[in-house]
Order: sequence, then C-alpha cells, then structure tokens
Amino acid sequence: MIPEETQVVQDRTLPPEGCGPIVSQRDLVSIPLRQQVFECVRSQGQISRIDVAKRLNVSPASVSTLVADLLVGGLLKEVEAPRDPSSRGRPPVALQVRAEAGYVAGIKLSDMVHTAIIVDFAGRPVAETSLGRTSLRTDLDLLVDEADALLTQILRDAGMARAEISAVGMGLPGMVDSQRGVALWSPIIRGNNLPVAVLMSERMGLPVVVDNDANLLTLAELWYGAGRALSDFVVLTLEYGVGMGLVMDHRLYRGAHSVGMEIGHTKVQLDGALCRCGQRGCLEAYVSDYALVREASIALDLHRSETGSAQVMLESLYDQAKAGNEAARTIFRRAGRFLAAGLSNVINLFDPSLVVLSGARMKYDYLYAEDVMREALAMSLTQSRELPRIEINAWGDLVWARGAATLALAAQTEARCAAEVVA
Ligand SMILES: [Zn+2]
Repeated sequence: MIPEETQVVQDRTLPPEGCGPIVSQRDLVSIPLRQQVFECVRSQGQISRIDVAKRLNVSPASVSTLVADLLVGGLLKEVEAPRDPSSRGRPPVALQVRAEAGYVAGIKLSDMVHTAIIVDFAGRPVAETSLGRTSLRTDLDLLVDEADALLTQILRDAGMARAEISAVGMGLPGMVDSQRGVALWSPIIRGNNLPVAVLMSERMGLPVVVDNDANLLTLAELWYGAGRALSDFVVLTLEYGVGMGLVMDHRLYRGAHSVGMEIGHTKVQLDGALCRCGQRGCLEAYVSDYALVREASIALDLHRSETGSAQVMLESLYDQAKAGNEAARTIFRRAGRFLAAGLSNVINLFDPSLVVLSGARMKYDYLYAEDVMREALAMSLTQSRELPRIEINAWGDLVWARGAATLALAAQTEARCAAEVVA
C-alpha cells in the first residue's frame, strides 16, 4: 500500500528540453594537436620528435607531419642533441622553439610601480623595466599615457621597433573582465566599466589583452614557477589588497564572468571592519596594507600626515614589531590569524596540492611565520586527506609583468599555431 503523502509520477516521458549537462561542441574540442606539439617542445626546452610522440601519446608519423609544418612556419627549429657516447653515426636531432619567431610585451600597472617586460617566443625575457610612481587613483587617460611611455622606454632600451612586438598583455588590480578587456572596478583607476584594452590598444597600435593581476601572477607560477607540473594549485597575493588565482586542471579558472576568486572580499567577520569595497568584515579589511595602517595609527599613534605615506607607516610598524614592541607584534599576529582563516577556507573549498603565497608584502614575515601556516592547516579538514604544501614566493615586482607577457604569449601561440598551416 502506498502512503498518502507519496506522489507517484505516471508520466515518465522526458521533458522536451532534455536533461543533464548541456555542453557546446566548442567545449569538447581540445587544443589542436599542432599547438600541443609546439607547447610540448616549449615546455621541455629541447626534445626529440620521438619523445614528443611519447609524451603526447600520438604516433611518431603524426608528430613528424606537424613538426614539419611548424618548421616551415618558423616556430620551431632543429638543433643537434647531445650524442650518446656509445652510439655511432649521425648525431641525433632535437627540436627547440625558434625564440625570434615573435615577441610580446607584458605590463603590470599598480599604484606604487609599473613594471614592463619583453619576452621572446620561447618565453625568455629580453628586457625588463619599471617606473616608480606615487599616485593612488588616477584617470584612465593618464594610465594609458604612462603605460605607453613605459612601452616606448623598454623598446628603446632593448633596441627594438614597436612593429616587432605582436601583442601586449596587461595586468591591473581589481575586477577585470578579461574576455571583454574591461576593468569593472580597479583601486588605481577612477570610474567603473572602463574599456582598458580598447583604449590601450588604440594608443599603442598593438593588440592588448588585460586581466586581473593576481591571475597573471598565477600564470607566471603555472609557466615558470612551482605550479608547472601541478594540475590544481592556488596563489594568494598580498599587496595593497588580497588577491587569488586558481589553476584547475592545468588552466587558470576565472569564473563565469571572469571576475571570480575575490578571496579578499570573502567575509571573515559578520558586521566586521569596513573594507574599501564598502562592505564589512572582508578578509582584506584585516590583512591588507590599509588594515595594518589603520591599526598602527591607533595602537602606535602613527599618523599618515606625519609619516608621509602608508608605505612608510608599514615600514615603521614592521621595524617596531621586529624590535619587540608588543603592540606592533600583536597587530601582525592578529592579521596573520585572519590570513590563516582565509587560507584554510581556500584549502577546504578547492583541495589544492599547493598554495603559493606571493606579493611584495611577503617580507613582513610576522604575517607568514610558521605558526600562521600551522594555524591554516589546523583549521583545514584533515580527515584522511593530504594537506597542501604552502610555499612563500617573493619574486619581486617583475614577475607580475612576466605573467602579463605570458597572457599575450599564450594568445599569440594559439593564433600562430593555427595559422602556420602549410598548403
Ligand atoms: Zn571588501
């Protein structure tokens, strides 16, 4: 007998709209094999055809055909490989990227310093430069002027013509819709919904791609750093604010509108401290520069008008903590505990194999001392699971620009590998 409250569905035909995940054909298409071959060679530095075939699990004949295309297209070259001392005959031949096949620039814009880099098609730096500045928030027009001046300078220093650059990657803090090239909001630019990529591109006369700076730092880790061989990892950046980048399955994850990963504005305290986003209780309102400056101004009676800048105040706070001032130490310790909470949330949500802490503020090691990491792991669920490594990486300012260049290089690689088809 069926209890009264149970509804039995008689009509079991499927609804006309179907059910289950709807995946477009485009999502199913993987990276073209020619591009895979090229990227395999670039990732190995130097590799033989047969080893490419083994790594990609495709036939040597297919690799040979694709390599022939890439050689004719000028993207790869053959080099003599080291000979096995016991073997005779012709020296073996290996493949390398033809570094001079193209060049891209990367520019990272920030409130304190803009950095720029030029890299070749093998991803190696050709020139690097930076421009110190003090302006906190400026109009986009001025930022376009500054970025273009920086590009002009680095090209001049490298002895290159603008025409030799095929694209520019650019990073800035804030919410950036990378696909549309629009900064929805940035702490360094006045206004909202700013068409950064279009305006930069018009001024520079080059294609420009933009992204959130934490994403670009994550790309740098994926291409050059600790994340190269990892499928899933996280980068947390501590700069003026707190940023995050996530790699899932060897790819940068941005979210549906490419503005995800706003770890700095996840809430760690209901009705807590006021954040610069206008809301309360954000992680950033406890661990960022301006949070530390706010606390320092009260606890240590340091005032910005007297000390000159937030940077000077931070340095002073750090010096006092190192010298044993208990109030100063407490400020760093408290910020460190909030950072640990944020970190453990990330670990519990994404189960990464590695967490990289990066950014200019890493030198304030009170924030990232052993006990902060220990606390973060202690707050993560540990039942029969492996916890991630936590690494600190203070690569300096230029790594951001390198990540920006990587964004442009990845797009150029895709385009060139698709275009270098031999008739
Ligand atoms: Zn916020």
